[in-house]
Amino acid sequence: MGYAKIRSVALQGVVGQVIVVEADVAPGLPSLVVSGLPDAALTEARDRIRAAVHNSGATWPQQRITVNLLPAHVRKHGSGFDTAMALAVLAAGADLPTRLLVDAVILGELGLDGTLRPVRGVLPAVLAASRAGAGLVVVPPGNVDEARLVPDVRVRAADCLGRIIGFVHGTETLLDPPTQPPPAQRPPADLADVLGQERGRRAIELAAAGRHHLAMFGPPGAGKTLLAQRLPGILPELTEQESIEVTALHSVAGELPADGGLIRRAPLQAPHHTSSIAALVGGGSGIAKPGAISLAHHGVLFLDECAEFQASALNALREPLEHGEVRLRRVHGETVYPARAQLVLAANPCPCARPGGDAMCQCPPGVRVRYRSRLSGPLLDRVDLQVDVVAVRAAALFGTEPAESSATVAARVVRARQAAARRWAPHARSNGEVPAAVLRDRRFRLPRTVLQPLATAMDRGQLSARGMDRATRVAWTVADLDGRDRPTIDDVHEALEMRSRRGR
Ligand SMILES: [Zn+2]
Repeated sequence: MGYAKIRSVALQGVVGQVIVVEADVAPGLPSLVVSGLPDAALTEARDRIRAAVHNSGATWPQQRITVNLLPAHVRKHGSGFDTAMALAVLAAGADLPTRLLVDAVILGELGLDGTLRPVRGVLPAVLAASRAGAGLVVVPPGNVDEARLVPDVRVRAADCLGRIIGFVHGTETLLDPPTQPPPAQRPPADLADVLGQERGRRAIELAAAGRHHLAMFGPPGAGKTLLAQRLPGILPELTEQESIEVTALHSVAGELPADGGLIRRAPLQAPHHTSSIAALVGGGSGIAKPGAISLAHHGVLFLDECAEFQASALNALREPLEHGEVRLRRVHGETVYPARAQLVLAANPCPCARPGGDAMCQCPPGVRVRYRSRLSGPLLDRVDLQVDVVAVRAAALFGTEPAESSATVAARVVRARQAAARRWAPHARSNGEVPAAVLRDRRFRLPRTVLQPLATAMDRGQLSARGMDRATRVAWTVADLDGRDRPTIDDVHEALEMRSRRGR
């Protein structure tokens, strides 16, 4: 009979918060009440925990047991508190000593047989434990490598509840498995493999340097996918902070790459056009999982054959792209995931997509018009670079110079990004993110003579006011890549050419 508490971690989206699992055991009819805003999964945990305790050779207190999770206002979900709850109950009702667990944080789901099973979101959980000053974090063996990504925290593993019980009694030790060296990462696809296709290569470089959203239109075989796959390889390597954010999101989604290390390259997500809205922006039953747009945080969200996506799915991406985060409304509140992704759209020019281009098209006119209108939705309205790419004929490749490698392009991209970040601070970090008001501010407004090509295009009805802003942003990127302080009329010309889609 008594009271005990054990610490664990609850996740709010991708942020962990240390919580206290307290247990009180009092005389009365045997029962177990769990309070502290638990969700359905937590209620189900009661039977699981009781079975796990029995099967670990410990005795479940046959009394009135109350388990409470603090602080009460923090939403808790999932099965990551199983082990902490079992230990708290045993400490309160079965004389389990907790001296060795005073500054510990315990993570892990319990199997009926008492084994500890890996949980999602261990990286953000251990980060929270570290912030709270935990001296020891106990995790299931399958989560050890991920937990050790957080420096300066003592991480130990327990394969079963019995081991932790043995540990606090001084009869067993926790596991300290050697960290697996991460296997050599496959180098990302290199731009040197894309021969010819000057326009597409240039578009990718501009997209990387200015962090512009990009749309590519062209027949199958024009290399749209090859180009999109190579964008992450020319983006700047993630900063330490970005690296942790991206890895934490993949951890919460249960999609950490097998190599175990921090994700240091800009991620690429390429969801299929049949993907559900939940797969794109996040959701699902129980714990709301991050969707493709959050897994592409600080990286690239590539929508191939974007005209084939459901209109509702594309619409669902609008707000996250605008705000850099996804808000998922749930029964018990809201889950927020970061979603600062760079969008790359690719589409065939028409449904029949014949290699010969428009001249060979066999689509009925009405079908073509409908297809194009699906492309020119509100999503495309946010895309600075909208280029047509054509298939490269094999003959055109003979005798061509070897193409520039990703490393060479990436070096230019880094310099351009730095120049832009210095210029726009504190309003934006890249040209693609500069608010229109800043773009038109007296300090940055470009002279009429330089903007002349855009004014002409507007007069002809080929460019909207927003289109003008987007072209101006791209012109800044052209200048940054060439190391110029300000765009010239030539830079503006090139920017306009990179919006060659009819009508915009
Ligand atoms: Zn066609």
